[in-house]
Amino acid sequence: MNKENECEIVQDLLLNYEDGVLHKSTEDFVKKHIATCENCKRRLKEIKQDIEHMQEQEEQEKEIDYLKKINKKINVKKILLIIISTMLAIIIILNVAVFINYNNMKEQLGNFKIFLSDDITNEELKNIEEVIKNIDDKAEIQYVSKEEVLDETKEKFSSKENLIEQYEQNNPFMAYYIVKTDFIEKLQEELKDVKGVSNTSSLIHLNPYELFIGTIAKKLTSK
Ligand SMILES: [Zn+2]
Repeated sequence: MNKENECEIVQDLLLNYEDGVLHKSTEDFVKKHIATCENCKRRLKEIKQDIEHMQEQEEQEKEIDYLKKINKKINVKKILLIIISTMLAIIIILNVAVFINYNNMKEQLGNFKIFLSDDITNEELKNIEEVIKNIDDKAEIQYVSKEEVLDETKEKFSSKENLIEQYEQNNPFMAYYIVKTDFIEKLQEELKDVKGVSNTSSLIHLNPYELFIGTIAKKLTSK
């Protein structure tokens, strides 16, 4: 075997030699050659460097992959946090709105309206007042005539002239008693079949949320 041939063979084996997977006799042969051949010794050094370089790169890639994974996890957490805090904010704002609305309406909550028939007599009016006083002698009773309701409506809807003209020709409103009392439910029950009472209404049964939805619905339909 001439020197050049031997170099070729050794260089083909260098990678396996470095990996340590050669048969003992082949390994000895390569080792012996390298000891005397500068060229192949240099080639082996280059291969070692290449391998080292590759390993470094692999490690860097692994590190980058790891960082990417962590980043993804952090992003998912961030998004979740944003969603949760947005929902919380909405819930809080909604509740604040509900209770502001409830506070605004509170004054009306203790009030109770008894709508009166158009053909009610003075005696029937007196009788209704008596029924109220019998149940709650501290009740504040105020009579509101249909003319007063019309005046109130005219003020509220002064821009709607056509409507007001119609109302003035034929007043569609009912006179009512407005009663401030703590015994609304009892009164409602008692007044159900009393002559002259058309119907009764109160806001007392509404919880703050129902009240809020009612207010919103009213605003939407009045537009
Ligand atoms: Zn050689």
